[in-house]
Amino acid sequence: MDTYLISLKISKIFIKKERIKNILNGHPWIFSNAISKNEGVNNGELAEIYSLDTFLGIGYYNQNTDIAIRILTKKKEKIDEKFFTKRFSILKKQRETFIKNTNAYRIVFGESDNLPGLIIDKYDQVLVMEIHTLGMFNLLADIVASLKEVFAPSCIYLKSSPHSQKIEGSNIEDKILYGDLPEEITINENGFSFIVNVREGQKTGFFLDQRENRKSILEYSEGRNVLNCFSYTGGFSVYAAKNAKKTTSVDISRSAIEYAKKNFEINGFNQNDHEFIVADVFNYINRIEPDVFDMIILDPPSLSRQKNQVKRAFLAYLKLNSEALKRLKTGGILVSSSCTYYVDEEMFIKILFKSAVNAKCQLKILKSSIQPFDHAYNLHFPEGKYLKFFILLKV
Ligand code: SAH
Repeated sequence: MDTYLISLKISKIFIKKERIKNILNGHPWIFSNAISKNEGVNNGELAEIYSLDTFLGIGYYNQNTDIAIRILTKKKEKIDEKFFTKRFSILKKQRETFIKNTNAYRIVFGESDNLPGLIIDKYDQVLVMEIHTLGMFNLLADIVASLKEVFAPSCIYLKSSPHSQKIEGSNIEDKILYGDLPEEITINENGFSFIVNVREGQKTGFFLDQRENRKSILEYSEGRNVLNCFSYTGGFSVYAAKNAKKTTSVDISRSAIEYAKKNFEINGFNQNDHEFIVADVFNYINRIEPDVFDMIILDPPSLSRQKNQVKRAFLAYLKLNSEALKRLKTGGILVSSSCTYYVDEEMFIKILFKSAVNAKCQLKILKSSIQPFDHAYNLHFPEGKYLKFFILLKV
């Protein structure tokens, strides 16, 4: 009995008084050098966070990372199945209110949804989870139980991310946590269908964060010859194909290109009317003839995961956008996106400007946008702001 009681008790960690402002303002991270005393909390365990007598919240701890604590709640509440059920129900309702015309959305966007280290995407009846921290990993049983309750899914799948394994030293492997995982899931998005292969696909299977941006190119692609670089499974290409003269999808991943072809077919487009190329865009872009394309889409993966690589990312974006612009027809549309956190909007606009100067043209911004509802940037967690998206006119 005694051991049972002891195991439920959460130990305390104390924070230096001068370091609590961020926490009070709603930021979920506490760095190791802000801690003044740890009353026996081990890596991956929950802790009550205090500054002197003031209770600040409950979070989980890991001394192996700079971010030693991530806060889950500012209330004195038990972190159990009920806690997650409450949180997931709220997130579900929010998503269902604002995200229409799809059966695929992000349920949890980590820190931005006050559930640090946890990503959950819903693809029809299948839920795919990424866990980035040891502390969240230790709560997995409660998370799975409450997901079953709130979503009644057919499958819950855990996908490992190499990035988090390195940081947290935890051994997270791809695994079915509940139900059966179909090899392919068909999702609907704004009237289009896409096949998602959760196991083999990149990230959790599909880039849901570009949903609204994919839709926004519809009105600009009419009658155009469209080049979609970094196409993945043809997201932007399928939307473009509805109104375009022709589309060309380029990606370095052969399997992504094979899925792009399938996605054309299931949307009623004949893949033979379009082109699909497996290539490294950084080489391919130099080889294309000028004035062939009057719409070019650039949606590369993150080009820098570390702050000290930002110069390299800057130069890579500059090269891509410059070379694309040199070849784009005058009067053509450049769709340019960046998901690199360290390249902020100001820097990205500078890159676009310099690219236009290099290509001896001018650019007008027709439309720009940020993350959609299910990836929304939380003002209290600026680190969650990453997506830049521009539709530009070459003049
Ligand atoms: N726009 C897509 C998502 C793009 S994700 C959508 O809406 O679904 C980035 C893609 O870039 C991935 O498919 C990845 O395989 C591809 N990629 C990464 N490096 C590349 C390179 N050097 N050349 C071509 N494709 C690359």
